[in-house]
Amino acid sequence: MTPILPRRHQRQLPLDQLILAQEPSAEALEMDVLFVGAGPSGLAGAIQLAKLVKAAQAAGSSMPDLNIGVLEKAGSLGEHNLSGAVINPRALRELFPELKDTDFPFRQPVSAESVYYLTEGGSLKLPTPPTMHNRGYYTASLCEVVRWLGEQAEALGVNIFPGFPAEALLVAGQTVKGVRTTPSGLDRERQPTGSYQEPTDITAKITVLTEGTRGTLGQAWREWRNVGSENPQIFALGVKEVWQVKRPLDRVIHTLGWPLPSTAFGGSWMYPLGPEMVSLGLVVGLDYREANLDVHVLLQRLKQHPLVRPHLEGGELLEWGAKTIPEGGFYSLPERRSGDGLLMAGDTAGFVDVPSLKGVHYAMQTGMLAARTAFDALQADDVSAASLATYDRLVNESYIVQDMYKTRNMRLAFKHGFVAGGVRAGLMTLTGGRFPGGRIPMHEDADQPRSVAATAALAPLVPDGTLTVSKVDAVFKSGNATRDTIPQHLLVGTDVSAEVADFYAHLCPAGVYERVGDELRVNAPNCIDCKATDVLGPRWTPREGGSGPKYRLM
Ligand SMILES: Cc1cc2nc3c(=O)[nH]c(=O)nc-3n(C[C@H](O)[C@H](O)[C@H](O)COP(=O)(O)OP(=O)(O)OC[C@H]3O[C@@H](n4cnc5c(N)ncnc54)[C@H](O)[C@@H]3O)c2cc1C
Ligand code: SF4
Repeated sequence: MTPILPRRHQRQLPLDQLILAQEPSAEALEMDVLFVGAGPSGLAGAIQLAKLVKAAQAAGSSMPDLNIGVLEKAGSLGEHNLSGAVINPRALRELFPELKDTDFPFRQPVSAESVYYLTEGGSLKLPTPPTMHNRGYYTASLCEVVRWLGEQAEALGVNIFPGFPAEALLVAGQTVKGVRTTPSGLDRERQPTGSYQEPTDITAKITVLTEGTRGTLGQAWREWRNVGSENPQIFALGVKEVWQVKRPLDRVIHTLGWPLPSTAFGGSWMYPLGPEMVSLGLVVGLDYREANLDVHVLLQRLKQHPLVRPHLEGGELLEWGAKTIPEGGFYSLPERRSGDGLLMAGDTAGFVDVPSLKGVHYAMQTGMLAARTAFDALQADDVSAASLATYDRLVNESYIVQDMYKTRNMRLAFKHGFVAGGVRAGLMTLTGGRFPGGRIPMHEDADQPRSVAATAALAPLVPDGTLTVSKVDAVFKSGNATRDTIPQHLLVGTDVSAEVADFYAHLCPAGVYERVGDELRVNAPNCIDCKATDVLGPRWTPREGGSGPKYRLM
Protein backbone atom coordinates (compact mmCIF):
# COMPACT_ATOMS: atom_id res chain seq x y z
CA MET A 1 0.00 0.00 0.00
CA THR A 2 1.12 3.55 -0.65
CA PRO A 3 2.70 5.07 2.47
CA ILE A 4 1.00 8.07 4.09
CA LEU A 5 2.79 11.40 3.82
CA PRO A 6 1.32 13.43 6.72
CA ARG A 7 2.19 16.77 5.09
CA ARG A 8 -0.18 16.07 2.16
CA HIS A 9 -3.18 16.06 4.50
CA GLN A 10 -2.21 18.97 6.73
CA ARG A 11 -3.58 22.51 6.62
CA GLN A 12 -1.39 25.60 6.59
CA LEU A 13 -1.16 27.59 9.80
CA PRO A 14 -4.11 30.08 9.71
CA LEU A 15 -1.90 33.19 9.81
CA ASP A 16 -4.86 35.49 9.07
CA GLN A 17 -6.43 34.38 12.39
CA LEU A 18 -3.20 34.38 14.40
CA ILE A 19 -1.62 37.69 13.35
CA LEU A 20 -4.07 40.60 13.55
CA ALA A 21 -3.05 44.00 12.22
CA GLN A 22 -5.83 45.66 14.21
CA GLU A 23 -6.07 48.42 16.77
CA PRO A 24 -6.56 47.02 20.28
CA SER A 25 -10.06 47.61 21.62
CA ALA A 26 -10.68 50.74 23.70
CA GLU A 27 -11.08 48.58 26.85
CA ALA A 28 -7.72 46.83 26.33
CA LEU A 29 -5.78 45.96 29.48
CA GLU A 30 -2.37 47.64 29.43
CA MET A 31 0.75 45.79 30.57
CA ASP A 32 4.41 46.71 30.34
CA VAL A 33 5.47 43.11 29.82
CA LEU A 34 3.15 40.20 29.07
CA PHE A 35 4.24 36.55 29.31
CA VAL A 36 2.01 34.23 27.27
CA GLY A 37 1.99 30.89 29.11
CA ALA A 38 2.41 30.23 32.85
CA GLY A 39 4.88 27.36 32.66
CA PRO A 40 8.32 27.42 34.29
CA SER A 41 9.54 29.80 31.58
CA GLY A 42 6.82 32.47 31.83
CA LEU A 43 6.64 32.39 35.62
CA ALA A 44 10.42 32.45 36.14
CA GLY A 45 10.59 35.37 33.69
CA ALA A 46 7.84 37.29 35.50
CA ILE A 47 9.46 36.66 38.91
CA GLN A 48 12.88 37.73 37.63
CA LEU A 49 11.47 40.95 36.17
CA ALA A 50 9.56 41.82 39.36
CA LYS A 51 12.72 41.14 41.40
CA LEU A 52 14.84 43.37 39.13
CA VAL A 53 12.38 46.25 39.61
CA LYS A 54 12.35 45.76 43.39
CA ALA A 55 16.16 45.60 43.49
CA ALA A 56 16.44 48.81 41.43
CA GLN A 57 13.94 50.59 43.71
CA ALA A 58 15.80 49.37 46.80
CA ALA A 59 19.01 50.76 45.31
CA GLY A 60 17.42 54.21 45.05
CA SER A 61 15.97 54.17 41.52
CA SER A 62 12.81 56.23 41.08
CA MET A 63 11.43 53.75 38.55
CA PRO A 64 7.76 52.92 39.17
CA ASP A 65 6.44 49.35 39.54
CA LEU A 66 5.98 47.60 36.20
CA ASN A 67 2.69 46.04 35.11
CA ILE A 68 3.75 42.44 34.55
CA GLY A 69 1.13 39.99 33.26
CA VAL A 70 1.11 36.22 32.72
CA LEU A 71 -1.66 34.63 30.64
CA GLU A 72 -2.47 30.93 31.03
CA LYS A 73 -4.98 28.84 29.09
CA ALA A 74 -5.52 26.34 31.94
CA GLY A 75 -8.29 27.14 34.43
CA SER A 76 -5.78 27.06 37.33
CA LEU A 77 -2.00 27.18 37.35
CA GLY A 78 -0.28 23.85 36.72
CA GLU A 79 -3.27 22.10 35.16
CA HIS A 80 -1.69 22.07 31.69
CA ASN A 81 1.89 21.34 32.69
CA LEU A 82 3.47 17.94 32.30
CA SER A 83 7.05 16.76 32.58
CA GLY A 84 9.02 13.66 33.73
CA ALA A 85 10.44 15.14 35.86
CA VAL A 86 13.98 15.10 37.08
CA ILE A 87 14.92 18.74 37.49
CA ASN A 88 18.34 20.37 37.46
CA PRO A 89 17.97 23.01 40.25
CA ARG A 90 20.45 25.47 38.69
CA ALA A 91 17.93 28.07 37.48
CA LEU A 92 15.80 27.87 40.64
CA ARG A 93 18.91 28.48 42.77
CA GLU A 94 19.79 31.53 40.67
CA LEU A 95 16.25 32.93 40.82
CA PHE A 96 15.89 32.40 44.57
CA PRO A 97 19.41 32.81 46.01
CA GLU A 98 17.81 33.41 49.42
CA LEU A 99 16.30 29.87 49.50
CA LYS A 100 17.77 26.41 50.06
CA ASP A 101 17.08 23.36 47.84
CA THR A 102 14.88 22.00 50.63
CA ASP A 103 12.61 25.06 50.22
CA PHE A 104 11.83 24.18 46.59
CA PRO A 105 8.77 22.05 45.77
CA PHE A 106 10.77 18.95 44.84
CA ARG A 107 9.70 15.41 45.76
CA GLN A 108 13.14 13.89 46.48
CA PRO A 109 16.83 14.01 45.50
CA VAL A 110 18.06 11.47 42.94
CA SER A 111 20.16 9.02 44.97
CA ALA A 112 20.60 6.17 42.47
CA GLU A 113 19.91 5.55 38.79
CA SER A 114 19.90 2.67 36.30
CA VAL A 115 19.54 2.35 32.53
CA TYR A 116 18.23 -0.86 30.90
CA TYR A 117 17.89 -2.14 27.39
CA LEU A 118 14.61 -4.07 27.18
CA THR A 119 13.59 -7.04 25.07
CA GLU A 120 10.02 -8.33 25.19
CA GLY A 121 10.62 -10.51 28.24
CA GLY A 122 14.06 -9.48 29.48
CA SER A 123 16.31 -6.59 30.40
CA LEU A 124 19.99 -5.83 30.18
CA LYS A 125 21.52 -3.29 32.55
CA LEU A 126 23.66 -0.78 30.66
CA PRO A 127 26.30 1.62 31.96
CA THR A 128 24.62 5.02 32.49
CA PRO A 129 25.67 7.31 29.61
CA PRO A 130 27.19 10.62 30.79
CA THR A 131 24.22 12.55 29.33
CA MET A 132 21.87 10.65 31.63
CA HIS A 133 23.61 11.23 34.97
CA ASN A 134 21.07 12.76 37.36
CA ARG A 135 22.89 12.83 40.71
CA GLY A 136 22.49 16.25 42.34
CA TYR A 137 19.10 16.73 40.70
CA TYR A 138 15.60 16.22 42.10
CA THR A 139 12.42 14.44 41.09
CA ALA A 140 9.35 16.65 41.01
CA SER A 141 5.85 17.10 39.66
CA LEU A 142 5.91 20.04 37.24
CA CYS A 143 2.31 20.92 38.22
CA GLU A 144 3.51 21.40 41.79
CA VAL A 145 6.54 23.44 40.70
CA VAL A 146 4.32 25.67 38.55
CA ARG A 147 1.80 26.23 41.34
CA TRP A 148 4.64 27.17 43.70
CA LEU A 149 6.21 29.54 41.15
CA GLY A 150 2.77 31.12 40.68
CA GLU A 151 2.56 31.84 44.42
CA GLN A 152 6.02 33.44 44.39
CA ALA A 153 5.06 35.57 41.37
CA GLU A 154 1.82 36.76 42.94
CA ALA A 155 3.62 37.66 46.15
CA LEU A 156 5.83 39.94 44.05
CA GLY A 157 2.81 41.69 42.49
CA VAL A 158 2.70 39.87 39.13
CA ASN A 159 -0.80 39.77 37.54
CA ILE A 160 -1.63 36.16 36.66
CA PHE A 161 -4.64 35.46 34.44
CA PRO A 162 -5.51 31.74 34.44
CA GLY A 163 -8.26 30.68 32.02
CA PHE A 164 -7.18 33.27 29.42
CA PRO A 165 -5.66 31.67 26.31
CA ALA A 166 -4.04 34.09 23.86
CA GLU A 167 -5.65 33.49 20.48
CA ALA A 168 -3.78 35.97 18.28
CA LEU A 169 -0.94 38.49 18.27
CA LEU A 170 -1.96 42.12 17.83
CA VAL A 171 0.55 43.84 15.57
CA ALA A 172 1.23 47.26 14.06
CA GLY A 173 3.66 47.20 11.15
CA GLN A 174 6.34 44.69 12.20
CA THR A 175 5.85 45.32 15.91
CA VAL A 176 3.98 43.03 18.27
CA LYS A 177 1.68 45.14 20.44
CA GLY A 178 0.03 42.48 22.61
CA VAL A 179 -2.52 39.70 22.26
CA ARG A 180 -6.22 39.02 21.90
CA THR A 181 -7.63 36.23 24.09
CA THR A 182 -10.15 33.60 23.01
CA PRO A 183 -13.86 34.28 23.54
CA SER A 184 -15.74 31.84 25.76
CA GLY A 185 -19.32 30.63 25.88
CA LEU A 186 -19.71 29.89 22.15
CA ASP A 187 -21.74 26.88 20.98
CA ARG A 188 -20.64 24.34 18.37
CA GLU A 189 -21.71 26.68 15.55
CA ARG A 190 -19.69 29.50 17.17
CA GLN A 191 -22.88 31.30 18.26
CA PRO A 192 -22.86 33.08 21.66
CA THR A 193 -24.66 31.28 24.51
CA GLY A 194 -25.89 32.86 27.77
CA SER A 195 -22.38 32.54 29.25
CA TYR A 196 -20.68 34.31 26.33
CA GLN A 197 -17.59 36.40 27.19
CA GLU A 198 -16.04 38.38 24.40
CA PRO A 199 -12.27 38.33 23.75
CA THR A 200 -10.04 40.64 25.80
CA ASP A 201 -7.22 42.63 24.24
CA ILE A 202 -4.11 42.94 26.34
CA THR A 203 -1.46 45.35 25.12
CA ALA A 204 2.19 45.21 26.19
CA LYS A 205 5.36 47.06 25.36
CA ILE A 206 7.01 43.64 25.23
CA THR A 207 5.21 40.32 24.66
CA VAL A 208 7.20 37.25 25.74
CA LEU A 209 5.99 34.00 24.19
CA THR A 210 6.38 31.22 26.74
CA GLU A 211 3.61 28.95 25.37
CA GLY A 212 5.60 25.73 25.64
CA THR A 213 5.96 23.03 23.04
CA ARG A 214 4.69 23.70 19.49
CA GLY A 215 3.51 27.17 20.51
CA THR A 216 0.89 28.37 18.07
CA LEU A 217 1.69 32.08 18.34
CA GLY A 218 5.41 31.36 18.17
CA GLN A 219 4.94 29.38 14.95
CA ALA A 220 2.78 32.18 13.52
CA TRP A 221 5.26 34.92 14.45
CA ARG A 222 8.16 33.00 12.91
CA GLU A 223 6.26 32.37 9.70
CA TRP A 224 5.09 36.00 9.54
CA ARG A 225 8.60 37.43 10.18
CA ASN A 226 10.28 34.66 8.16
CA VAL A 227 12.50 33.48 11.01
CA GLY A 228 14.07 30.15 10.03
CA SER A 229 16.46 27.68 11.63
CA GLU A 230 19.26 25.51 10.24
CA ASN A 231 17.15 22.36 10.72
CA PRO A 232 13.38 22.38 11.16
CA GLN A 233 12.06 21.62 14.65
CA ILE A 234 11.17 17.97 15.27
CA PHE A 235 9.10 16.56 18.13
CA ALA A 236 8.50 13.53 20.33
CA LEU A 237 5.29 12.56 22.08
CA GLY A 238 5.48 11.62 25.75
CA VAL A 239 2.65 9.75 27.48
CA LYS A 240 2.84 9.76 31.28
CA GLU A 241 1.12 8.11 34.24
CA VAL A 242 1.43 8.73 37.97
CA TRP A 243 0.87 5.68 40.18
CA GLN A 244 0.25 5.22 43.86
CA VAL A 245 2.52 2.26 44.68
CA LYS A 246 2.82 -0.28 47.49
CA ARG A 247 6.59 -0.18 47.81
CA PRO A 248 9.01 2.70 47.21
CA LEU A 249 11.01 2.87 43.99
CA ASP A 250 14.63 3.27 45.12
CA ARG A 251 16.07 4.81 41.97
CA VAL A 252 15.56 6.71 38.74
CA ILE A 253 15.17 4.22 35.87
CA HIS A 254 15.45 4.82 32.12
CA THR A 255 14.89 2.15 29.47
CA LEU A 256 15.62 1.82 25.76
CA GLY A 257 14.46 -0.81 23.26
CA TRP A 258 11.19 -2.76 23.61
CA PRO A 259 8.31 -2.00 23.13
CA LEU A 260 9.52 0.47 20.49
CA PRO A 261 10.18 -0.81 16.97
CA SER A 262 13.88 -0.57 16.07
CA THR A 263 13.12 2.25 13.60
CA ALA A 264 11.69 4.55 16.29
CA PHE A 265 13.67 6.82 18.64
CA GLY A 266 12.62 6.99 22.26
CA GLY A 267 12.61 5.39 25.66
CA SER A 268 10.86 5.22 28.98
CA TRP A 269 11.34 6.52 32.50
CA MET A 270 10.31 5.58 36.02
CA TYR A 271 10.95 8.21 38.71
CA PRO A 272 10.14 7.98 42.43
CA LEU A 273 7.94 10.85 43.68
CA GLY A 274 8.36 10.13 47.37
CA PRO A 275 7.86 6.69 48.98
CA GLU A 276 4.31 6.13 47.68
CA MET A 277 4.26 7.52 44.15
CA VAL A 278 5.94 6.74 40.86
CA SER A 279 6.02 8.76 37.63
CA LEU A 280 6.16 6.51 34.58
CA GLY A 281 6.20 7.43 30.93
CA LEU A 282 7.26 6.70 27.38
CA VAL A 283 8.61 9.15 24.83
CA VAL A 284 8.66 8.39 21.09
CA GLY A 285 10.02 10.60 18.28
CA LEU A 286 7.25 11.67 15.90
CA ASP A 287 9.41 10.68 12.92
CA TYR A 288 8.42 7.02 13.53
CA ARG A 289 7.79 4.99 10.39
CA GLU A 290 4.68 2.84 11.05
CA ALA A 291 1.28 4.49 10.60
CA ASN A 292 -0.23 2.31 13.34
CA LEU A 293 2.35 3.10 16.03
CA ASP A 294 0.43 4.21 19.10
CA VAL A 295 2.40 5.68 22.02
CA HIS A 296 -0.45 5.24 24.51
CA VAL A 297 -0.72 1.53 23.61
CA LEU A 298 3.07 1.10 23.79
CA LEU A 299 3.07 2.55 27.31
CA GLN A 300 0.33 0.09 28.30
CA ARG A 301 2.52 -2.76 26.95
CA LEU A 302 5.56 -1.44 28.79
CA LYS A 303 3.67 -1.71 32.09
CA GLN A 304 3.34 -5.46 31.51
CA HIS A 305 7.12 -5.93 31.24
CA PRO A 306 8.75 -7.93 34.09
CA LEU A 307 10.97 -4.93 34.96
CA VAL A 308 8.01 -2.55 35.35
CA ARG A 309 4.99 -4.62 36.36
CA PRO A 310 6.16 -5.56 39.91
CA HIS A 311 6.51 -1.87 40.78
CA LEU A 312 2.88 -1.15 39.85
CA GLU A 313 1.02 -4.30 40.91
CA GLY A 314 -1.30 -3.68 43.82
CA GLY A 315 -1.02 0.06 43.20
CA GLU A 316 -3.40 2.50 41.56
CA LEU A 317 -3.25 4.72 38.49
CA LEU A 318 -3.80 8.25 39.83
CA GLU A 319 -3.33 10.44 36.79
CA TRP A 320 -2.61 10.20 33.07
CA GLY A 321 -1.45 12.79 30.55
CA ALA A 322 0.51 13.45 27.37
CA LYS A 323 2.57 16.20 25.79
CA THR A 324 5.03 16.73 22.97
CA ILE A 325 8.68 17.73 23.40
CA PRO A 326 10.72 19.76 20.90
CA GLU A 327 13.60 17.42 20.08
CA GLY A 328 15.57 19.10 17.31
CA GLY A 329 18.17 20.60 19.67
CA PHE A 330 20.82 23.14 18.73
CA TYR A 331 20.31 23.15 14.95
CA SER A 332 16.54 23.67 15.33
CA LEU A 333 16.83 26.81 17.45
CA PRO A 334 15.25 29.78 15.63
CA GLU A 335 17.94 32.01 14.08
CA ARG A 336 16.55 34.77 16.32
CA ARG A 337 14.16 34.59 19.24
CA SER A 338 13.53 38.32 19.41
CA GLY A 339 11.84 40.92 17.25
CA ASP A 340 10.09 44.27 17.53
CA GLY A 341 8.16 44.08 20.82
CA LEU A 342 8.64 40.29 21.08
CA LEU A 343 10.76 37.66 22.82
CA MET A 344 10.46 33.84 22.86
CA ALA A 345 11.63 31.59 25.69
CA GLY A 346 11.43 27.97 26.82
CA ASP A 347 10.00 25.12 24.77
CA THR A 348 8.31 27.37 22.25
CA ALA A 349 11.80 28.30 21.04
CA GLY A 350 13.06 24.69 21.43
CA PHE A 351 15.40 24.97 24.45
CA VAL A 352 15.46 21.26 25.34
CA ASP A 353 18.43 18.92 25.58
CA VAL A 354 17.11 15.57 24.40
CA PRO A 355 19.90 13.15 25.40
CA SER A 356 19.42 14.21 29.04
CA LEU A 357 15.62 14.80 28.66
CA LYS A 358 15.99 18.21 30.30
CA GLY A 359 14.08 21.39 29.53
CA VAL A 360 12.73 22.79 32.81
CA HIS A 361 15.87 24.65 33.88
CA TYR A 362 16.49 25.91 30.32
CA ALA A 363 12.90 27.16 30.16
CA MET A 364 13.31 29.02 33.44
CA GLN A 365 16.74 30.38 32.54
CA THR A 366 15.65 31.67 29.10
CA GLY A 367 12.58 33.25 30.75
CA MET A 368 14.94 34.96 33.21
CA LEU A 369 17.25 36.18 30.42
CA ALA A 370 14.19 37.51 28.57
CA ALA A 371 13.23 39.37 31.76
CA ARG A 372 16.69 40.94 32.06
CA THR A 373 16.53 42.04 28.43
CA ALA A 374 13.01 43.44 28.90
CA PHE A 375 14.08 45.34 32.04
CA ASP A 376 16.97 47.05 30.22
CA ALA A 377 14.86 47.75 27.12
CA LEU A 378 12.14 49.44 29.18
CA GLN A 379 14.73 51.50 31.07
CA ALA A 380 16.13 52.65 27.71
CA ASP A 381 12.59 53.10 26.35
CA ASP A 382 13.55 51.04 23.29
CA VAL A 383 11.67 47.80 22.53
CA SER A 384 12.84 47.56 18.92
CA ALA A 385 14.23 44.35 17.45
CA ALA A 386 17.74 45.84 17.68
CA SER A 387 17.34 46.50 21.40
CA LEU A 388 15.73 43.13 22.21
CA ALA A 389 18.44 41.27 20.23
CA THR A 390 20.45 41.48 23.48
CA TYR A 391 18.41 38.46 24.55
CA ASP A 392 19.79 36.34 21.70
CA ARG A 393 23.30 37.31 22.66
CA LEU A 394 22.69 36.48 26.34
CA VAL A 395 21.23 33.09 25.45
CA ASN A 396 24.00 32.30 22.96
CA GLU A 397 26.66 33.09 25.58
CA SER A 398 24.92 31.08 28.31
CA TYR A 399 25.38 27.47 29.42
CA ILE A 400 22.12 26.65 27.64
CA VAL A 401 23.46 26.95 24.12
CA GLN A 402 26.82 25.50 25.21
CA ASP A 403 25.04 22.37 26.54
CA MET A 404 22.89 22.07 23.43
CA TYR A 405 25.92 22.50 21.16
CA LYS A 406 27.67 19.53 22.79
CA THR A 407 24.74 17.23 21.94
CA ARG A 408 23.95 19.01 18.66
CA ASN A 409 23.74 15.91 16.46
CA MET A 410 22.79 13.26 19.00
CA ARG A 411 19.05 13.06 18.36
CA LEU A 412 19.60 13.48 14.63
CA ALA A 413 21.95 10.47 14.65
CA PHE A 414 18.95 8.21 15.28
CA LYS A 415 17.11 9.04 12.08
CA HIS A 416 18.41 5.80 10.50
CA GLY A 417 17.26 3.60 13.36
CA PHE A 418 18.15 2.72 16.90
CA VAL A 419 21.23 0.50 16.52
CA ALA A 420 23.19 2.68 14.07
CA GLY A 421 22.04 5.72 16.05
CA GLY A 422 23.23 4.23 19.35
CA VAL A 423 26.73 3.65 17.96
CA ARG A 424 26.91 7.15 16.48
CA ALA A 425 25.57 8.75 19.68
CA GLY A 426 28.22 6.86 21.71
CA LEU A 427 30.97 8.26 19.48
CA MET A 428 29.47 11.75 19.78
CA THR A 429 29.56 11.50 23.57
CA LEU A 430 33.19 10.33 23.54
CA THR A 431 34.25 13.21 21.27
CA GLY A 432 32.23 15.89 23.08
CA GLY A 433 29.99 16.30 20.02
CA ARG A 434 32.84 16.67 17.50
CA PHE A 435 32.06 13.37 15.71
CA PRO A 436 30.81 13.30 12.94
CA GLY A 437 31.42 17.05 12.44
CA GLY A 438 29.06 19.40 10.68
CA ARG A 439 25.30 19.24 10.90
CA ILE A 440 23.16 16.18 10.23
CA PRO A 441 20.31 17.59 8.13
CA MET A 442 16.74 16.78 9.10
CA HIS A 443 13.31 17.15 7.56
CA GLU A 444 10.10 17.99 9.36
CA ASP A 445 8.23 15.11 11.02
CA ALA A 446 5.29 15.67 8.66
CA ASP A 447 7.58 14.88 5.71
CA GLN A 448 8.41 11.36 6.98
CA PRO A 449 6.35 8.78 5.02
CA ARG A 450 4.42 6.26 7.19
CA SER A 451 4.15 2.66 6.18
CA VAL A 452 0.58 1.34 6.35
CA ALA A 453 1.58 -2.35 6.74
CA ALA A 454 0.76 -3.52 10.31
CA THR A 455 3.45 -5.28 12.32
CA ALA A 456 2.93 -7.91 15.00
CA ALA A 457 4.63 -5.74 17.63
CA LEU A 458 1.95 -3.11 17.13
CA ALA A 459 -1.08 -5.42 17.40
CA PRO A 460 -4.11 -4.01 19.29
CA LEU A 461 -4.13 -4.23 23.07
CA VAL A 462 -7.12 -5.20 25.21
CA PRO A 463 -6.84 -3.12 28.42
CA ASP A 464 -7.60 -4.89 31.72
CA GLY A 465 -8.80 -1.65 33.37
CA THR A 466 -6.35 -2.00 36.28
CA LEU A 467 -2.77 -2.22 35.04
CA THR A 468 -3.62 -1.19 31.48
CA VAL A 469 -6.23 1.39 30.46
CA SER A 470 -8.07 2.40 27.31
CA LYS A 471 -7.77 5.89 25.87
CA VAL A 472 -11.27 6.74 27.15
CA ASP A 473 -10.31 5.76 30.72
CA ALA A 474 -6.98 7.53 30.33
CA VAL A 475 -8.63 10.83 29.35
CA PHE A 476 -10.88 10.50 32.41
CA LYS A 477 -7.69 10.21 34.51
CA SER A 478 -6.40 13.46 32.97
CA GLY A 479 -9.31 15.24 34.67
CA ASN A 480 -10.36 16.63 31.28
CA ALA A 481 -13.23 19.02 31.92
CA THR A 482 -13.91 20.45 28.47
CA ARG A 483 -17.47 21.50 27.72
CA ASP A 484 -19.07 19.01 25.29
CA THR A 485 -20.61 21.78 23.21
CA ILE A 486 -17.38 23.69 22.59
CA PRO A 487 -16.63 24.81 18.99
CA GLN A 488 -14.24 22.61 17.03
CA HIS A 489 -10.66 23.85 17.62
CA LEU A 490 -8.89 21.26 15.44
CA LEU A 491 -8.48 22.23 11.78
CA VAL A 492 -8.72 19.02 9.75
CA GLY A 493 -7.02 19.05 6.36
CA THR A 494 -8.21 17.76 3.04
CA ASP A 495 -8.22 14.33 1.44
CA VAL A 496 -8.39 12.40 4.72
CA SER A 497 -8.74 8.78 3.56
CA ALA A 498 -9.70 5.84 5.79
CA GLU A 499 -5.98 5.02 6.21
CA VAL A 500 -5.18 8.59 7.25
CA ALA A 501 -8.10 8.50 9.72
CA ASP A 502 -6.56 5.33 11.21
CA PHE A 503 -3.16 7.03 11.39
CA TYR A 504 -4.67 9.97 13.34
CA ALA A 505 -6.56 7.58 15.63
CA HIS A 506 -3.28 5.84 16.56
CA LEU A 507 -1.36 9.09 16.81
CA CYS A 508 -3.70 10.86 19.25
CA PRO A 509 -3.20 9.50 22.78
CA ALA A 510 -6.56 10.89 23.91
CA GLY A 511 -8.86 9.16 21.43
CA VAL A 512 -9.92 12.41 19.74
CA TYR A 513 -9.89 10.78 16.31
CA GLU A 514 -11.89 7.73 15.30
CA ARG A 515 -12.33 5.99 12.01
CA VAL A 516 -16.04 5.41 11.49
CA GLY A 517 -16.57 3.45 8.28
CA ASP A 518 -14.18 5.21 5.95
CA GLU A 519 -14.68 8.62 7.58
CA LEU A 520 -12.79 10.54 10.27
CA ARG A 521 -14.80 11.42 13.37
CA VAL A 522 -13.33 14.14 15.60
CA ASN A 523 -14.24 14.08 19.33
CA ALA A 524 -12.67 17.51 19.94
CA PRO A 525 -13.62 17.85 23.65
CA ASN A 526 -11.34 14.85 24.44
CA CYS A 527 -8.28 16.89 23.41
CA ILE A 528 -5.70 17.33 26.16
CA ASP A 529 -3.51 19.80 24.23
CA CYS A 530 -0.51 17.52 23.70
CA LYS A 531 -0.08 19.09 20.20
CA ALA A 532 0.95 15.82 18.48
CA THR A 533 -1.55 16.25 15.68
CA ASP A 534 -0.49 19.86 15.21
CA VAL A 535 2.84 18.29 14.21
CA LEU A 536 1.47 15.52 11.98
CA GLY A 537 -2.24 16.07 11.38
CA PRO A 538 -5.08 18.46 12.12
CA ARG A 539 -3.90 21.84 13.38
CA TRP A 540 -4.49 22.74 17.03
CA THR A 541 -5.82 26.26 17.73
CA PRO A 542 -6.46 27.96 21.11
CA ARG A 543 -9.95 27.34 22.51
CA GLU A 544 -12.08 28.54 25.42
CA GLY A 545 -10.08 29.11 28.62
CA GLY A 546 -10.12 26.30 31.18
CA SER A 547 -10.74 23.61 28.54
CA GLY A 548 -8.50 20.55 28.49
CA PRO A 549 -6.88 18.54 31.27
CA LYS A 550 -6.84 19.33 34.96
CA TYR A 551 -3.52 17.82 35.92
CA ARG A 552 -2.54 17.91 39.61
CA LEU A 553 0.48 15.59 39.70
CA MET A 554 2.00 15.65 36.19
C1 LIG B 1 6.99 13.70 28.64
C2 LIG B 1 7.98 14.77 29.02
C3 LIG B 1 8.99 14.50 29.93
C4 LIG B 1 9.89 15.50 30.27
N1 LIG B 1 10.83 15.25 31.23
C5 LIG B 1 11.63 16.24 31.66
C6 LIG B 1 12.49 16.05 32.77
O1 LIG B 1 12.51 14.98 33.41
N2 LIG B 1 13.28 17.09 33.14
C7 LIG B 1 13.28 18.29 32.50
O2 LIG B 1 14.03 19.21 32.87
N3 LIG B 1 12.47 18.49 31.43
C8 LIG B 1 11.64 17.51 31.01
N4 LIG B 1 10.77 17.74 29.98
C9 LIG B 1 10.79 19.05 29.29
C10 LIG B 1 10.14 20.14 30.14
O3 LIG B 1 8.94 19.68 30.71
C11 LIG B 1 9.89 21.37 29.30
O4 LIG B 1 11.09 21.74 28.67
C12 LIG B 1 9.36 22.54 30.13
O5 LIG B 1 8.16 22.22 30.76
C13 LIG B 1 9.18 23.76 29.24
O6 LIG B 1 8.66 24.82 29.99
P1 LIG B 1 7.86 25.99 29.26
O7 LIG B 1 7.51 26.96 30.33
O8 LIG B 1 8.62 26.44 28.09
O9 LIG B 1 6.56 25.25 28.68
P2 LIG B 1 5.35 24.54 29.43
O10 LIG B 1 5.80 23.89 30.66
O11 LIG B 1 4.70 23.68 28.41
O12 LIG B 1 4.38 25.73 29.78
C14 LIG B 1 3.73 26.48 28.78
C15 LIG B 1 2.45 27.04 29.33
O13 LIG B 1 1.85 27.88 28.36
C16 LIG B 1 0.46 27.64 28.34
N5 LIG B 1 -0.04 28.07 27.01
C17 LIG B 1 0.21 27.50 25.82
N6 LIG B 1 -0.39 28.19 24.83
C18 LIG B 1 -1.03 29.23 25.43
C19 LIG B 1 -1.81 30.29 24.93
N7 LIG B 1 -2.04 30.44 23.61
N8 LIG B 1 -2.34 31.17 25.81
C20 LIG B 1 -2.10 31.04 27.15
N9 LIG B 1 -1.36 30.04 27.67
C21 LIG B 1 -0.82 29.15 26.82
C22 LIG B 1 0.35 26.15 28.58
O14 LIG B 1 -0.93 25.78 29.02
C23 LIG B 1 1.42 25.94 29.64
O15 LIG B 1 0.95 26.11 30.94
C24 LIG B 1 9.83 16.77 29.63
C25 LIG B 1 8.80 17.05 28.74
C26 LIG B 1 7.87 16.07 28.44
C27 LIG B 1 6.73 16.39 27.52
S1 SF4 C 1 -6.15 16.13 19.19
FE1 SF4 C 1 -5.40 17.04 21.10
S2 SF4 C 1 -4.90 15.28 22.40
FE2 SF4 C 1 -5.09 14.50 20.28
S3 SF4 C 1 -3.03 14.56 19.45
FE3 SF4 C 1 -3.97 16.50 18.89
S4 SF4 C 1 -3.44 17.90 20.55
FE4 SF4 C 1 -3.03 15.82 21.31
